[in-house]
This record gives sequence, structure tokens and C-alpha cells, in this order.
Amino acid sequence: MFELNNILRENIKNLTPYSSARDEYTGEASVFLDANENAYGSPLETAYNRYPDPLQYQVKLKLSQIKGVPPRNIFLGNGSDEAIDILFRSFCNPGVDNVIIVPPTYGMYQVSANINDVEARKVLLTEEYQLDLEGIAEAIDKNTKLIFICSPNNPTGNSINRDDIETLLANFNGIVVIDEAYINFSRQKTFIQELTEYANLVVLQTLSKAWGLAGLRVGMAFASEEIIEVMNKVKPPYNVNEASQQLALQALNNVSLVNLWIKETLEQRDQLVLALKNFDFVLDIYPSDANFILVKTTNAKAIYDFLVQNGIIIRDRSKVELCEGCLRITIGTPDENKTLLSTLQQYK
Ligand SMILES: *Cc1c(COP(=O)(O)O)cnc(C)c1O
Repeated sequence: MFELNNILRENIKNLTPYSSARDEYTGEASVFLDANENAYGSPLETAYNRYPDPLQYQVKLKLSQIKGVPPRNIFLGNGSDEAIDILFRSFCNPGVDNVIIVPPTYGMYQVSANINDVEARKVLLTEEYQLDLEGIAEAIDKNTKLIFICSPNNPTGNSINRDDIETLLANFNGIVVIDEAYINFSRQKTFIQELTEYANLVVLQTLSKAWGLAGLRVGMAFASEEIIEVMNKVKPPYNVNEASQQLALQALNNVSLVNLWIKETLEQRDQLVLALKNFDFVLDIYPSDANFILVKTTNAKAIYDFLVQNGIIIRDRSKVELCEGCLRITIGTPDENKTLLSTLQQYK
């Protein structure tokens, strides 16, 4: 049985969180001389002289309408990378506990594990880029706290079988983190709706990809109220700045434009796949549920270098296990994709 208290670090269980100036009074007030801010304003058109809402309530309220989950089940971070780090700091004792990652996958899980001095046990995906459930079961021991599943997966682009993820959720006594950074491009359903079903589920999403706000650094975690409380306790008090909160709120009121771009991206992806299949150096293009494609080629390094010389940057993933010969290409605008194709015509 999953018990949050069994996997929480002792120091976090006993932590008294930082109490901000604004936390310490109740009632109405109009004069704020409690936080050593500049009372006069900011040397800018918009005033940012006051500290932001530590719990980002307005943004969460809007997200709650869009995602269909109460604000108390939402954590906001300085990118979802911050949420990943906070999960390590909340649940993994450095030098003692371990997590499971399933490469080839997003690189931050390993980096965050290393920063926190936590062992990341690797259980490779199968040849079809799906979970090796037996291998995962063998790798789990009493100190395994987190399993990271990225779906749709970066860099392979495919979604992970839903039944396999549910098997993990039902049987693992630690937390299953499902990173849905690319869910807006996918035909698969989000796992957010399963939060009521599984107490050990954390779903990560971000405004950095489909929402077009990578520069603002706003990431989300959806989980039980208890897990969200822990994450809020561990996070830096003002982890999402006021400008990002205001702009995120504005953007979240403009869903229709984002949906238009998603549709266009998927059309462009299909066209790009068809066009790329005509090149001799393209051996395979993997099915994608994301805004990028993984392309197996005869000579990844040479193609990558040739594109760089022509001012086009893609991602060389050929050194990654199970991605030998592979390049990862983000879907661009129609013009950018045309430029990519016409440049590749000149590759020989
Ligand atoms: C891009 C990406 C992220 C990064 O999210 P931020 O919110 O920008 O930190 C997280 N997970 C995956 C799988 C990604 O590809």
C-alpha cells in the first residue's frame, strides 16, 4: 500500500516552512511596511515592487478551469524542471534512496538525481520504446522512491502504453511521475483525470512547449492535496515571479490561438515526415505524438554538422542508447520546415 508518510524524508516531515511577511497577518490592510520592499514603486511602467503571491492563486484558478482539477491539486514551479528537483528533495535521502528512469528519455531526471546525490537506476525502454515492466519490477527495492515516465516521450516522440503505466501506479509503493510536457500534441488522454484513483500519481505539465512560453519558466505538477502540500513546503517562497504570473494568466485566457498552432504543428509534422521519407539518408522516422520527430539516418553527425553550417540547428541524439543514428527535429513554421527540406536537398 502507498503511504505518503512512509516515503517522505524525515527532515521534510518535520520542516517548519519559511513564513513570509504577508503570511503573518489576517484581515484587511492598505499600508504594507512588513517586507522591506520599496514603497515608492519600480523604475518601470508596470510596478513590480511588491513580492508576488507565493501560491500563485489567480494562475491556479484559471488552470483549474482549463484542466478540471481544484487549485489545491496544483503546484506551480519555475519550469517543470523545478518540480522535478523538488520531488527529489522531498522524497529522496541523498546517498541512500534511488529512483528509476527509463532511457532513452528526458535528461533532467538524471541530472536532478546527480545534483541531489540520488542513484538513478536505468531500465532501458524496449526496442518499441515501451516500458520493460519486468526490468522495472526487478530494479525496485525498499529505497526506490520515484519512477519517471515521460509520455509522449522525449526524444522518441511516442506515447507510453497506458495499461503499463497503470500497472506501475497500482503496484508501486512510491510515486509515479508522468511527465506530460508534450500532452497537448498527443492523441492520448492526460493522466490528470486519474488523480482521484491513484494517491501516488504526480503529473507534470508545462507552459514551455505548446503554450509558447518557454521564456517565462512556468511548470505545473498535478497531484493529491497531500503531495502538493509537501511540494509547497519545500519550494522557495517566491518561486514564480510576478511578471510570469501575470503573463501566464493573460496567455491562459487565449487558448484558441494555442489550439490553432497545435493543429498547424501536427499538419506540418505529417508533411515533414512524408517529405523526409524521400531522402536516401533517412532510414526510419518514428511515430510521434509530439511537436518533434526522431529520424534514423545513415550518418547523423555529418547531417547535423551540415545543417549547422547552414544555420539550422537540430538535436543530434545518435550517441543516446537505442537512438543510434538518430536526429531529433522540432517542427517549425511552414517557412522554417521548407528551409530545412531545401537545405537537406543540398546534402551529399
Ligand atoms: C521541455 C521539457 C520539460 C521542460 O519543462 P520546463 O517547464 O521548461 O522546465 C520537461 N519535461 C520534458 C520531457 C521536456 O521535454
